[in-house]
Amino acid sequence: MNDDFLPSSSGRGAGSEGLQSRAIAAYLGMAIGDALGSTVEFMTPREIAAEYGVHKSLVGGGWLNLKPGQVTDDTTMALALGESILRAGKVDAHAVAHAFDQWMRAKPVDIGNTVRRGLLAFRKTGDPKMPPSEHDAGNGAAMRVLPVALATHAQTEAALREGCRAQAHVTHNNPLSDAATETLALMLRDAMQGVDKAGLLHRWAQPLVVKHPEFAFRASRQRLNPSGYIVETIQAVFQAFFDTDSFEECLIDVVNRGGDADTTGAIAGMLAGALYGAAGIPWRWLHGLDGGVQHACKQQAIALTRL
Ligand code: MG
Ligand code: MG
Repeated sequence: MNDDFLPSSSGRGAGSEGLQSRAIAAYLGMAIGDALGSTVEFMTPREIAAEYGVHKSLVGGGWLNLKPGQVTDDTTMALALGESILRAGKVDAHAVAHAFDQWMRAKPVDIGNTVRRGLLAFRKTGDPKMPPSEHDAGNGAAMRVLPVALATHAQTEAALREGCRAQAHVTHNNPLSDAATETLALMLRDAMQGVDKAGLLHRWAQPLVVKHPEFAFRASRQRLNPSGYIVETIQAVFQAFFDTDSFEECLIDVVNRGGDADTTGAIAGMLAGALYGAAGIPWRWLHGLDGGVQHACKQQAIALTRL
């Protein structure tokens, strides 16, 4: 682990880190959340408790039988998206679809059904945009949105939203997926620029619920066993993110809910990484993450910050 981006211990806490350091933390947070959650993906909280007590270590395993610290499609698709943005110099739907297709050809450890369907359609038609679908409200577009938030951080809100939709519609063209994906990107951008948790809640999370009441997360009971449906994913992530006070607590909270835990872990991890910064990430998790992934995350975060 190259830790030259870590601030000194006196710099701990929100507000003390710059954009680049927070961007790196968001990337590492995503990968750590994915690796941590993958162990308990599709399990119930009761099954997790019986097997692990509280699951909080990068031990691999799970239904994909992963190595400790190995990541899944959530992280590798985000990295593929980020590479396409760096190559094209912008979020270009065609370049994104091509990058995702190359990613699929390389036989990733897992792939969502909606993603597979979208990429097979792209191979057939060459059109990087799926038609609108009521059924494609999965979390696959949201889980990979981090590179867009970073690449458009100095642009207008409209440009950020457009970039989100361009990458999303390659596989998921659905209003709830769009609303959640754009909200996440706006929260990530603000958090990387130093906005605090209360600001993220008032500026973006609450307005999402006003516009789409399906996402209500404050009044609803604890969202256990969140599925890949974007509404359940966001409810679990927001509950864990807004009701905890550290990167570690947030990730442990969300993955122990089970269900689509690698994806809730990845999304909560990018948000918490951006908010709490690199100093908030426990050393044992940084150290336990796959070395190649760690390197790729750091390089891509720096390159996109400079785009
Ligand atoms: Mg996955
Ligand atoms: Mg998943």
